[in-house]
Parts: sequence; C-alpha cells; structure tokens
Amino acid sequence: MTIDTHLDGNALGGLFHEIFGRDMTGQHGCCDGCGTVSAIGSVLVYRGAGDVVRCPKCGIELLVIVSSPTGIRISFGSIRWLSIDHSEVSDVPTGDDD
Ligand SMILES: [Zn+2]
Repeated sequence: MTIDTHLDGNALGGLFHEIFGRDMTGQHGCCDGCGTVSAIGSVLVYRGAGDVVRCPKCGIELLVIVSSPTGIRISFGSIRWLSIDHSEVSDVPTGDDD
C-alpha cells in the first residue's frame, strides 16, 4: 500500500518568503521534464528531512530544500526556470523610506 502524503506549494510560503523576501506562491516555474508551467502554490511538496518539490503534472523532482540551524540548502533539480513578476511585489523597499 502506498500512502500519498503531499501538500501543495502553499505549504512553502513561509520558507520561500525567508529565501526570496516576498510571497512566491503566485509566481511561476517551468518543469524541465514535461514543460509544464505551474504556479509555485500548485506544486507538490513531500515533507521529510527536507521538502521535496515535484511537478504537479509529471511528478519529476524540481527542487529539494533542506533547512537546518545553520541555514537553508536548495538543490535545483528539473526546474527549467523560475519567474518573479515585479508587478506583484508589495514589500520591496523603494529607497524613499527615510
Ligand atoms: Zn513536469
């Protein structure tokens, strides 16, 4: 018997905010395995000693993210690209905040 215990990419919202300094769940990435473009919030996340991020269409490993007391390590698997849309940025400093 196989138990499929994945979460969706929204489970990584806090971790991605720590890494990128912003909400990433609405951003998009492209699977190098099948070419599917998915919102980060819709990827499949398997939790264990780290977070294994898989393509929601073909299941190939896109990223592995491991947090430890000393930092965060990201292994890039089959992610072709990750797009960050500036128009959705609301918490970027403008330099006019003095
Ligand atoms: Zn894929």
